[in-house]
Amino acid sequence: MQKGGILDVYDAVVIGAGPAGSEFAFRMARRGFKVLVLEKDKLDREKPCGGGIPVQEKVEFGRLPAGIIERTIDKARMISPENEVLEISSPKRTLTGSIVKRRVYDNYLQRRAEEAGAILLPETEAVGIIQKNGLAEIRIVDKRNKGKERKETTIRARLVADASGYPCRIDGIRRPVADKDVIVTHHVWIRLGKKQIDRRIGNSIEMYCGKDIIPRCYAWIFPKKDVVSVGLGTTKDLLKSRKISLKKVLHRFIRSHPIGSEKLKGGKIISSGGGQIPLAMLARLYSKNIIFLGDAGGFANPLHAGGIYQARKSALIAAKHCSDFLKAKSPAARSRALEGFDREARGHFHDENGRWDIKLRNLFWDDGILNTLIREAKRNKRVEDAIGTILSMREPHEKAYKTLESEMIDMIHSSATEKVEPYKRIVGRELQLFKDGCEADRFARHSFFGDAKRLRVSLVLLSCDIFRGNLKKAAKLAPVYELLHTASLVHDDIMDGAKTRRGRRTLHSIYGVNNAIVAGDYMIGRTYSVLSKGLEGLQERQKTRILGIIGDSTSRCCNGQIMDLRLAKERKYGSIGDYLKMAELKTGSMIEGAMSKGAVIAGADGKDAGRIAMIGRNMGIAFQIIDDSMDLLGNNRSKSLQNDIRQGKITPMLVHALKNSDEKQRRFLLGSAGKDLSRKNLEKIKGIYRKTGAIEYAQRLSGDYAAKAKSDIEGLKRSRKLNRKALGILEEVVDVLGYWGMMAD
Ligand SMILES: Cc1cc2nc3c(=O)[nH]c(=O)nc-3n(C[C@H](O)[C@H](O)[C@H](O)COP(=O)(O)OP(=O)(O)OC[C@H]3O[C@@H](n4cnc5c(N)ncnc54)[C@H](O)[C@@H]3O)c2cc1C
Repeated sequence: MQKGGILDVYDAVVIGAGPAGSEFAFRMARRGFKVLVLEKDKLDREKPCGGGIPVQEKVEFGRLPAGIIERTIDKARMISPENEVLEISSPKRTLTGSIVKRRVYDNYLQRRAEEAGAILLPETEAVGIIQKNGLAEIRIVDKRNKGKERKETTIRARLVADASGYPCRIDGIRRPVADKDVIVTHHVWIRLGKKQIDRRIGNSIEMYCGKDIIPRCYAWIFPKKDVVSVGLGTTKDLLKSRKISLKKVLHRFIRSHPIGSEKLKGGKIISSGGGQIPLAMLARLYSKNIIFLGDAGGFANPLHAGGIYQARKSALIAAKHCSDFLKAKSPAARSRALEGFDREARGHFHDENGRWDIKLRNLFWDDGILNTLIREAKRNKRVEDAIGTILSMREPHEKAYKTLESEMIDMIHSSATEKVEPYKRIVGRELQLFKDGCEADRFARHSFFGDAKRLRVSLVLLSCDIFRGNLKKAAKLAPVYELLHTASLVHDDIMDGAKTRRGRRTLHSIYGVNNAIVAGDYMIGRTYSVLSKGLEGLQERQKTRILGIIGDSTSRCCNGQIMDLRLAKERKYGSIGDYLKMAELKTGSMIEGAMSKGAVIAGADGKDAGRIAMIGRNMGIAFQIIDDSMDLLGNNRSKSLQNDIRQGKITPMLVHALKNSDEKQRRFLLGSAGKDLSRKNLEKIKGIYRKTGAIEYAQRLSGDYAAKAKSDIEGLKRSRKLNRKALGILEEVVDVLGYWGMMAD
């Protein structure tokens, strides 16, 4: 039975004495099982690692003994691609994590396993596994025999825990991970001295984001006592395709990042290294009698790649099920036990957190979105808290994701209008309408000067600027679309019976329906005064084209409105084609008209004017889809919510959900259309939309239209006469519209 102190058959052989292996060995040995741990390295090796551990570890595993924690962390700083610093310190101390030295931390976990009865074999490498008679046969090599002939021995186990990290070099074990799901890192320790660290960094982890530093990931500075861990990484596929040298990129960051280099000034690199972290959980977390823990199972967090706590937690979940496995009397019971591990671990790591983190990763890997999020977090506590939750890993991330989702819609609107703000300012004086003091002016002023973002006005000028046109001329004509748009909203609100719009009372709800109808007509009439002044000085051909554009877009918009009302009345929700047609007529036409007008004022040629019209049309459709998603998912600040449901309006989410739901859900959705719903029923609708993938469908659809607009911009870029700076602004606006699409997987 016994060969030179080593048993022939173990209950469990653990490969790897990292956090996953040692935690698992501890828990199994404590249950009375015979456990052997193989570790290919010496026990006091220092693993390249930031050593950052979230507060969740303390909550679940208890306080670490004195001497292991190098620094207690109570803040996190995120530095955006445009170098805005967001500092999150949580009053509830949910960010209180710690930084450990991996050598000391890993030794503590190894000792704990040994004290519980596990046998630890350092410098012993598992090189292959085969199955024989229901047992795993593991070939091991004693690495202490350096220089001498490598001698292999075989040990047997009823269960093997592969906790050997990543990548795997054991014959007989295959756990493929796509290169796009592996982060490759490079890392250095820099001695800076405690005083400097306290002064420059304090008890805060710092994450520097942006593709100019490193795409798809971030650079970090984690403070220990007198040393800082500095590193960065990116996905393996990118590293290969772009032939990036991580070492060079890291040294550039240390030397020249405007904020990071100041923090690290005067420091001395004392060692360096690297490693790989898989970010995708294996499709199956066991194979026969082998289970995969920690990095071997792909448990690291897919958003920030932290994996220490996750490794221990995967072991904690596994121990319970593996104990059942070892006690089971039949093959069926054994396989049930390992299925149980797979289910529980996947439920905890993927369903509760991981799948939301993967969605969040899409956002955090995009410079534009990250800039927007960080800017917003500095003035919006809800966004700040959501980011804090994600970094602290304290709550299921679903809530944080949904907060960002609902805030995102508002951010898209404000961010898009912010980008064109300078154009709005140029129009300034031309918008000083309705000052005659007549009675109709009073009504018109209420709607025209509400919370108007003046997007259409700004787009007329932007388009004119792209074609190097005269902005003063464009400014004179710009209010036309704003007047027509406002008039249509006043009439819309009457038809929809809406009491509020963007948080303000609607005109008809204050002054009555009749006055509101006339005020709308009045605004349409006033477009002629604007036109009579604005058309002066333009060529005859331009005048005719502009009048044609205005007439055409107004009639298309009216037809879109009629179609919207008809679809709602007939409860016709079967065709996404109907919806898109309506969106194109109702919203696309007006944005298209505004941008075409700007191009004509600038004298753009027919081909380019056609392109800009298409860009406007597709932007309008994307806007409409985002607006229709806001109705149910928005944050309540931008628009009175649930108007569309109350009016039985068609939306992409509704079309998709009806196609993909069961009979009961369909009946509920159809029965809800056109009604005032309780909060509970609204939540039910959201639930159906989430289950059927309707939200993601709408997100993707808006993303598709933003992508179409973007590809038309690429077409425009070929024209050499254009103003690149203005075109860049249009591109940024379209990128912002694309954010909603990026919230889908
Ligand atoms: C540069 C860098 C920085 C990081 N920073 C952080 C951070 O700040 N916070 C965080 O939470 N996570 C961080 N991580 C991720 C974290 O290190 C891992 O997720 C974590 O170590 C996983 O633990 P594990 O036990 O699964 O694997 P590991 O810690 O990798 O342990 C695996 C062990 O198995 C041994 N082994 C491998 N093959 C064999 C074999 N064939 N036979 C015997 N033994 C074998 C290895 O020597 C190793 O000791 C970082 C990773 C890197 C590369």
